[in-house]
Amino acid sequence: MSLIVQKFGGSSVRDAQRIRNVAGIIAETYLQGNDVIVVLSAQGDTTDDLIAKAQEINPNASKREMDMLLSTGEQISVALCAMALESMGLPCVSLAAWQVGIQSTNVHSDARIKRIDPERVQMELDQHRIILVTGFQGVDRNGDVTTLGRGGSDTSAVALAAAFRADLCQIFTDVDGVYTTDPRIVPEARKLDEITYDEMLELASQGAQVLHNRSVELAKKFRVNLEVVSSLERKPGTKIKEVTKVEKTNIAGVAKDTSIARVALIGLQHNPGVAFQVFDLLSKHNINVDVILQSIGREATKDITFTVHKKDLVEAEEILNEHKAALMFDHIEADESIGKVSIVGVGLMSNCGVAAKMFEALYEAGINIQMINTSEIRVSVLLDEEDVNRAVKAIHAKFFDEI
Ligand code: ADP
Ligand code: ASP
Ligand code: MG
Repeated sequence: MSLIVQKFGGSSVRDAQRIRNVAGIIAETYLQGNDVIVVLSAQGDTTDDLIAKAQEINPNASKREMDMLLSTGEQISVALCAMALESMGLPCVSLAAWQVGIQSTNVHSDARIKRIDPERVQMELDQHRIILVTGFQGVDRNGDVTTLGRGGSDTSAVALAAAFRADLCQIFTDVDGVYTTDPRIVPEARKLDEITYDEMLELASQGAQVLHNRSVELAKKFRVNLEVVSSLERKPGTKIKEVTKVEKTNIAGVAKDTSIARVALIGLQHNPGVAFQVFDLLSKHNINVDVILQSIGREATKDITFTVHKKDLVEAEEILNEHKAALMFDHIEADESIGKVSIVGVGLMSNCGVAAKMFEALYEAGINIQMINTSEIRVSVLLDEEDVNRAVKAIHAKFFDEI
């Protein structure tokens, strides 16, 4: 007998028919003699709809109350799916994160799972019940509900798989695997049979929302046997592994991210410690910073440009302006109409032609690059937001049409 964690995303549980379909997949796995822990997302666009409801009442609602609201979506899904399994005569129990004991940090809207209490889940497993757990949420040390960031149900599933040493963690979604880029933008994108944890982590971190980036981080750390599969068609998906057999002459994929904004601090003093002060301040407010560029300005000043998530832009500007006197900058320039396109592949930086090929594709498409950033297995470019989809298509064609 194996323990299998199965996670179903919003589109997979969007209505009664889809919930019955999901119950069918779970029942089949259970009746084959496996223990099953199921993690569900909120139905369809429920999370977006709840955010819109909050906006109507108070656009500046506290993150704690937002978490209280958003966590209800997942609770509806697990209860409905448990009812579908009950109607099939299968033993099951739905549990919210606080009932399981998914302990998280207290950073509302972006909490991290610290540990999962084993008792309740183990007790239910001992009774051979199918356990349905709300994705996307945790409970902090005060007993308050937290959420793990958009797309966080994948992370709930992998964390449960790691905590209970599951034999397999399956992420069921509306695509049948991980593709070389988002198939909604490039219909010619190819499905990958397998991809390394490192490549998947970079793709997810650079905007490929098929997996939440922290789910991949956890899967790598705890060696979780992870796969992405379709909830609508029975066919093999994509396996995420430490090493893959696929030849490495090409990149693994292209990702895009339009959720970022650019902040430029103009006219900073050219003294030691300035960068430290700026980024220490932002990190103390839990604002993540991505691509950073420092350039020499006029008259012994410097400019520091970086990107943040769009949702953090106003707060970042406020914090920096509050400390304007101490930081001694001239002014802030913010730009929300930017996006980032990245290529990812193991061995990419040891092959000098790869970055040039990406830039050539952009040049041929007449697209201007604003900033460039690299890691060992990634090259990212910042562009005008309106150029992003065109850039993805051009770069994808350059790397995959010739093969
Ligand atoms: P779920 O609701 O099941 O969590 P998501 O919408 O979060 O599903 O993720 C699935 C979507 O991710 C797909 O519909 C697809 O448009 C998008 N996507 C982006 N990049 C990729 C990629 N490289 N491979 C597959 N899907 C991708
Ligand atoms: N329901 C949450 C969201 O829409 C979490 C998830 O789907 O993974 O972001
Ligand atoms: Mg998702």
